[in-house]
Amino acid sequence: MLRLNDILDRVASYHPDPDLDLIKKAYVYSAKVHQGQLRKSGEPYLVHPLEVAGILAELKLDEASVVTGLLHDTIEDTLATKEEIAGLFGPEIADLVDGVTKLSQFTAANTQEEKQAENFRKMVVAMAKDIRVLLVKLADRTHNMRTLDHMKPESQERIARETMDIYAPLANRLGMQAVKTELEEVAFRYLRPADATDLAARIAERAREKEKFVAEVVGIIRQRLEAQGIPADVSGRVKHPYSVWRKMRQLDVGFDLIQDVIGFRVIVDSVARCYESLGIIHALWKPVPGRFKDYVAIPKPNRYQSLHTTVVGPHGDRIEVQIRTEEMHRVAEEGVAAHWAYKERGGGGGGAPELSAKDAAEFGWLRQLVEFQREVDDPREFLETVKVDLFSDEVFVFTPKGDLKAMPRGATPVDFAFAIHSEVGQHCVGGKVNGKLVPLRHQLKNGDSVEILTSPHAHPSKDWLSFVKTSRAQARIRQYIRQEEHRRSLEIGRELAERDLRRYGLGLSRFVRSGEIDAAGQKLGYRTGDDLLAAVGYGKVSPAQLLAAVLPVDGPAPQPEAPPSRLTEIFRKVARRAGSGVRVSGVDDMLVRYGKCCNPVPGDRIVGFVTRGRGVTVHTVACEKVLESSVERRVDVTWDVKGDFKRSVALRVVGLDRPGLLATISKAFGEAAINISQASVKTAGERAVFDLEVAVGDLKQLTGVMRDVERIPGVQSVARL
Ligand code: MN
Repeated sequence: MLRLNDILDRVASYHPDPDLDLIKKAYVYSAKVHQGQLRKSGEPYLVHPLEVAGILAELKLDEASVVTGLLHDTIEDTLATKEEIAGLFGPEIADLVDGVTKLSQFTAANTQEEKQAENFRKMVVAMAKDIRVLLVKLADRTHNMRTLDHMKPESQERIARETMDIYAPLANRLGMQAVKTELEEVAFRYLRPADATDLAARIAERAREKEKFVAEVVGIIRQRLEAQGIPADVSGRVKHPYSVWRKMRQLDVGFDLIQDVIGFRVIVDSVARCYESLGIIHALWKPVPGRFKDYVAIPKPNRYQSLHTTVVGPHGDRIEVQIRTEEMHRVAEEGVAAHWAYKERGGGGGGAPELSAKDAAEFGWLRQLVEFQREVDDPREFLETVKVDLFSDEVFVFTPKGDLKAMPRGATPVDFAFAIHSEVGQHCVGGKVNGKLVPLRHQLKNGDSVEILTSPHAHPSKDWLSFVKTSRAQARIRQYIRQEEHRRSLEIGRELAERDLRRYGLGLSRFVRSGEIDAAGQKLGYRTGDDLLAAVGYGKVSPAQLLAAVLPVDGPAPQPEAPPSRLTEIFRKVARRAGSGVRVSGVDDMLVRYGKCCNPVPGDRIVGFVTRGRGVTVHTVACEKVLESSVERRVDVTWDVKGDFKRSVALRVVGLDRPGLLATISKAFGEAAINISQASVKTAGERAVFDLEVAVGDLKQLTGVMRDVERIPGVQSVARL
């Protein structure tokens, strides 16, 4: 079992000035809070955090990471809180531990689909924020995989799957070859036990057969390089079962046909010598065409650098050779973690790796990391700088089926709806996030489960453009608005043309059928007759211009029989539909109620609140309920009154108790064409209080009548209730 002293020694070996007391303190604290807990293996729980811290120390990470390794399960599994840890170890470590805890609470559902797994990996990175959270999580996973034997078979399978789909690729992305290989190989043993055992045996057998051959090849290469004055570390290594299995799959061949089960590696001390060594090996044995890869000049996105070649070696056997510098080797094994190491080695390494444009786009977050690293020389400073939101541009949210969608940061349920399908976007009326109804402008967060509510009668609204983030949603909404505007303009244009033609005893349809409208359209610069009629409806072309274009020049002079058509009237006719009187973020048929507290009328400035299961409640902006409510529940609403819409309003009139006052007040309402639906009078001494309920069309009408009532002699005040 690993002991605290082993970890302290390890940290002291690479850290010039380590805070060992902090690590000791974390150990004592972890031991205290995990006291009495056991691992599935029956060992004290503390063994696990110790091993995780040990792995982190092996990666030569900073004290904060090692301390986080010791504390990583305390928030999740003990009574410890983030606040307590912040108090004892500072906010930085508290954030790291909290980050690891949050990651652990997510289990990857259905990761087998490639896209899904990719998104999940991204989400894990996005949620980690500080990359050290990922490194601790990977160390945690590494130790859990080492001890997977003690878990139940079904858990073994699930954990191994998740490791294969999420964590091994993540380690690979981070360039941590050693961690990646270990995670993959262990997961492979649980996912395909028969293949793993079988391959391990065959590989071992092959290695025994080839023992002499390996020694021979290593000897020849070393000798040749030495003869040219190149000191080199040459080795032959047997490949791991999973990597061999993957190759068999890729090539669709059996084990016997896999040639390069043994790989050779040459480590030299400079980039120049990498190429020199390559030349020497190619002079010695014939290279296999198409198998040479220069990852030194063009590193892999995860910063991996090496020269790869395959040659036809002694006895006609193909052998695979990798050539790299010590620095490249270290980066290949440790990846991102290598940046935290307190490196004393100077020079010798490869130049700063460049990413290709394509890779850079695909691995933007990694590039960012590499750039940070390049800008700062002091690894400690790098540590500080790297506390960035690596995926600041994206959020990852779940569909109801558990699929993950990547959305731009700030995306709303409307963006999500359009991302699912244009039809869903065209008809969305609301969204549920994690089961709760939210306004359409609500901003989605990482890990949210999003469900879209649709209605066949709902359509996009212009307001949506003010908050959608995706260009797809924007384009679709604009397209809908354009079509809708065209449709309405056409409808209005037709009515206007119809009306004016009727004055001559003519009908529009005749002109449409004869093609004369189309011709008139072209004459006036429009593609079709419909476009011309739409332009009339839109107001770009006057009905008179249209008539002039359609009617013969020498025809009867127009004799207006009716007053000129009134646009507003026609608009009203076209748009006449009874409604709730309010437009919710542009949606027509959302269930709308009015707040009893403030009882808004058209003309009042209003705001809506999403109420769970009860649609939207509309209040005046000045209402006290508005000030009390949370901002997230608010939705934009606008008045959208059609026909003779009326709102019932409660008024209180206070006046002197004198005979006939109520009659005078009633008369004032009558004159303003306002119905009183209820009235009650209370008297107190000289004063009378009239409580009235009246139905008004809008604020203008209401304030008008209130002013009139106020002017009645004997009335002291009029107020809305
Ligand atoms: Mn753990």
